[in-house]
Amino acid sequence: MQAGMSDEPMVPPGFAASLVEIGQRMDRCRWVPGSAGNFSARIDDERIAITRSGVHKGRLTDDDIIAVKYDGSAFDPGDRPSAETLLHCQIYQKFAGVGAVLHGHSVAATVLSMASDAGGIAFSNYEILKAFGGIRTHETEVILPVVDNDQDMPRLVARVEPLLEMGAPLGYLIRGHGIYAWGETVEHAFWRVEALEFLLACELERRRIK
Ligand SMILES: [Zn+2]
Repeated sequence: MQAGMSDEPMVPPGFAASLVEIGQRMDRCRWVPGSAGNFSARIDDERIAITRSGVHKGRLTDDDIIAVKYDGSAFDPGDRPSAETLLHCQIYQKFAGVGAVLHGHSVAATVLSMASDAGGIAFSNYEILKAFGGIRTHETEVILPVVDNDQDMPRLVARVEPLLEMGAPLGYLIRGHGIYAWGETVEHAFWRVEALEFLLACELERRRIK
């Protein structure tokens, strides 16, 4: 975190604190092993707060939350944002109501995405489906799309683009990699990840006992 033109820090303390805290929660759930995962929050029309690259997300400090522009570049040239910053920027640019984006690497998201075909993972008959806005019954089907992983970020962004064009999915999986989900606030995005991770864990167990 560094000073901007005024005395205000580029990342307001409240944003930094909530992303630090969400890292601890994601870590307790074992969704961010090693230095995996990244989290962000929309500050305003010019700034996104996002985790710094290469740090353990369960042990973040305020200094590990940096400000980037909507093109993914850091305000401070000395800051190295998460490798996947462009995926966050893409979601904010697509959906004006999104205030936070969370990404983790859980066992269930990693394994199930590797086992799924291009159609994604379909969930039906789970009571928790009602946790998602607009769904009133378990007798429905929710699809979590899966895209192939890629170390070339612009190419991965292009692969995700059609999914977002189709509307606002609950999130998506990157094959063999992890989950992306978002919400109006950091707390809302965490609920979304928690519900999706619960579904993924259930689905993994269900396939195991089949
Ligand atoms: Zn990742």
